[in-house]
Amino acid sequence: MHNKYKKGWLIRTLVVLITLHCSLNANSGSIGATKVCELKDNKKAAYTFTTDDGVVSAIQSYNVDFKRLNLRGSMALVAGWISDKSPSNWNFWNKIIADGHFDVTNHSMTHIYFDKLGSSATGLDSLNNEINGAQVLLKSKLSGQDMITMANPYIINSGSADELIKQHHFAARNGTIGYNTLNPTDEDWYRLNFQNTFNRSKLRATYPTELNNCLDYAIKNRKWLIILAHGIGKNRGEMVQDSITSHFEYVASKLDSVWCGTFNELTKYIREKQHISIAIKKNSSTRLVLSVTHNLDTKIFNFPLTLKTQVSPNWKTVRVIQNNISQTLTPKVENGNRYLYYDVQPNGGNITLVKYQISSSCRY
Ligand SMILES: [Zn+2]
Repeated sequence: MHNKYKKGWLIRTLVVLITLHCSLNANSGSIGATKVCELKDNKKAAYTFTTDDGVVSAIQSYNVDFKRLNLRGSMALVAGWISDKSPSNWNFWNKIIADGHFDVTNHSMTHIYFDKLGSSATGLDSLNNEINGAQVLLKSKLSGQDMITMANPYIINSGSADELIKQHHFAARNGTIGYNTLNPTDEDWYRLNFQNTFNRSKLRATYPTELNNCLDYAIKNRKWLIILAHGIGKNRGEMVQDSITSHFEYVASKLDSVWCGTFNELTKYIREKQHISIAIKKNSSTRLVLSVTHNLDTKIFNFPLTLKTQVSPNWKTVRVIQNNISQTLTPKVENGNRYLYYDVQPNGGNITLVKYQISSSCRY
């Protein structure tokens, strides 16, 4: 009888405590709730310009436009076409990379049709050299490139090619004409879609307005738009200089809502986002401590992520600290709540958000 009474009291107390805990959580709303933004800087859409085959005059021109407009993109290079003797030697590509507006995507060793290489042991060796051999060579000759993306020549796929690509690449622009979601499936990652600067169905250069409309569609529908380009000019059936420049100017005018990033950067950000785990370590009225980690290889997947955290209504200014580096930011008010947007390094140590108060000594 005595024991039974004790048990009942214990259960009642637990129920009260649990109810109290839940109501406290409800009262505090979702202060501290944190998520990774779909895209860097919470942009609505992504734009990646890729240019294939290393057409020297075109790259030089794209690079001038990209510097002027502060755009970024990727060059899909054929490793076996670059030598120390050719005008487009390794030094030339390293200089373009050093300008800071282009990185590099693997476009094979010799630009061969992947489905023409047989499935014999020799065929597979050649295919491996076209895919992984090219990646090793490009990485060894070009500075600071981790080359985690692939663009198959002629957009030709095969089961064997897919298997080899997946060994050391995390994305491939091997889909069809179209757009990409901001959360590709394992399958989508190796069939990313694109829009071409040469309209194959109409056998003419794409009009700049058509490409601009693609960007508008991507913004409206929150998509990742990848452009596939080669050279510039009528002799290649490509967009002429004024056309492609006016398109780039259009992209630059939309950077408030568009993240213009390289193929490798987008792959890193979205893959990290897909594998992220966020834990709240401490959540008080003046301090929030978060752990933000993913289970990917941190030597490759080290791109900063943009987080969105709901903070208390009386946090007018917030100091964000990670690894002794701090930034002072102002939360944005959305639907009556306050949200802080800030960049962090995943797997880079705990992140502390502190309600920031200006010291009284500053008044005098
Ligand atoms: Zn090509």
